[in-house]
Amino acid sequence: MSVSLWQRASGGDPIRCQVAVVGGGITGVSAALELEARGVDAVVLESRAIGAGASGRNAGFLMRGAADNYAQAAEQWGRERARELWKWTEDNLADLVAMGVDGLPSFEYRPSCLVAADAEEESQLRTSAAMLAEDGFDVSLIEHGSAAPPPEDPVWRAGGSCLGLVNPGDAVCNPSELMAHLAAQLRAVRVLAGVEVATIEFGGGSGVRLATSRGVVHADRVLVCTNAWVGRLLADVAAIIEPNRGQMLAVRPEDPRDARLAYAYYLDHGSEYVRPGPGGTVVFGGARKHHAADERCADEEPTQTVQDHLERMVAKHVTPRYEVVARWAGVMGFSRDELPVVGPVAPGEHVWVCAGFTGHGMSLAHRTARHAVSAMLDDGPNPFPLERFLPATE
Ligand SMILES: Cc1cc2nc3c(=O)[nH]c(=O)nc-3n(C[C@H](O)[C@H](O)[C@H](O)COP(=O)(O)OP(=O)(O)OC[C@H]3O[C@@H](n4cnc5c(N)ncnc54)[C@H](O)[C@@H]3O)c2cc1C
Repeated sequence: MSVSLWQRASGGDPIRCQVAVVGGGITGVSAALELEARGVDAVVLESRAIGAGASGRNAGFLMRGAADNYAQAAEQWGRERARELWKWTEDNLADLVAMGVDGLPSFEYRPSCLVAADAEEESQLRTSAAMLAEDGFDVSLIEHGSAAPPPEDPVWRAGGSCLGLVNPGDAVCNPSELMAHLAAQLRAVRVLAGVEVATIEFGGGSGVRLATSRGVVHADRVLVCTNAWVGRLLADVAAIIEPNRGQMLAVRPEDPRDARLAYAYYLDHGSEYVRPGPGGTVVFGGARKHHAADERCADEEPTQTVQDHLERMVAKHVTPRYEVVARWAGVMGFSRDELPVVGPVAPGEHVWVCAGFTGHGMSLAHRTARHAVSAMLDDGPNPFPLERFLPATE
C-alpha cells in the first residue's frame, strides 16, 4: 500500500508513543497487554479490525506442541528443544487461563488426539507417547482392543482409525471470542483499527517514523506483529517468513450423534484437523499438504479444490449426510525452521519483529509476544531469536 500526500496529513497531528505495535492479532494484542502491564505508552495499529487476520479465522485448538508429533519434533529440533517447546505451549495456555479465557462461553478443556494415518505415523506416535511420559508430560494412547476409543465417536466408529495419542490438558475455543476478550482488557493502550501501516522508516538515532493510511506515527520503538504479512513491511524478513493459506469448513451432520466427537483431532501428521464446533457442527481444516503450491499465498479466499478435499474428509471421518454451514480461509506466517521469530530487524534495535508462528499461533503467540516485549525493552530472555537466520559474523 502507498499513502498519498493528502492521506499523510488527514490524521491531524502525528501520533507519538513509546512503542507502536503493528498488527492486532493475538500477537499484537498480547504484546500490548504486556506493554500496558509495564505502564508503557503504546499504540496498536491494525489495518482492519482486531482479530481480522488468522487470529479470528483459525480452528481454535489451544494445543500442546508445535509440530506433528513429539518424536518428529525431537528429531527436527533436538530432544531438549522439543521439551522446552511443549512446556512453552502448556504455559501459553496457563497464561491465557490466567487472563480469564476459561470463563468464555466457547472455551472448553477438550483433549486433543493425534490419530495415526499409517504404520509409520503409528510407530512415531508410540515413540512420542513414551518420550512425552519420560519428559514428564501427561499422555495416553488409545487403540482398538486396549485402552478403548469412545465407541460412539464417528472418527473411531467406522473402525478405520487404529491408534490415537491423547493430550489430556488441551482446550478449544472460539478464537474471535478470545481475541475480543483479550483486547477488552486493554485500558491505557490506544487501539487504532482501520489504520494500515505503509512504511516504517528508521536508521537515524531518533526513533521510528511510520507512514499510515491515517497519518504519521512517531515511536521510540516498533514491534511488528503482522505474521503472514510481515515481509511487506520488513523486506529483510520476507525470506524468513512466508505466507501460507489455511482453509476451513464447518458442517452440521443430519444426525446430531455424528457431531459427538470426543476429542479435537489432529490427523495425518497434523496436516488435517477436525473438532466439534458450536450448535451441533463439526469443523474441519487443513489439507494444505496436498495442495501446497496453490496454498503458498496471502489470499484469504477458500478454493474449490481444497474445499472438495475437506468435504471428502467429512464423508470419510464423520458422515456423508450433512449441510455446509461455513467455508473460510486465513493466512499464516511460516518460518523457515517452523519456529517463531523474535528480534531486532535493524541496527539500533528500534524495530523488532514477533511473527512466524507456522500454524500454531494460538498455542504459542500469547506467551511469545509477552516475552518479545521483555526482550525488546529489558534485554530479557528470547527463546526464538531472529539472529539464528542471520549469517554468522567474525
Ligand atoms: C485456517 C487456520 C487454522 C489455524 N488453526 C490453528 C489452531 O487451531 N491452533 C493454533 O494454535 N493456531 C492455528 N492457526 C494459526 C494461528 O491462527 C496463527 O498462528 C495466529 O493467529 C497468528 O497470530 P498473529 O497475531 O501473529 O497474526 P494475525 O492474526 O494474522 O494478525 C496479523 C494482523 O496484522 C494486520 N496487518 C497486516 N498488515 C498490516 C499493516 N501493514 N498495518 C496494520 N496492520 C496490518 C492484519 O490485518 C492482522 O489482523 C491457524 C491458522 C489458520 C489460517
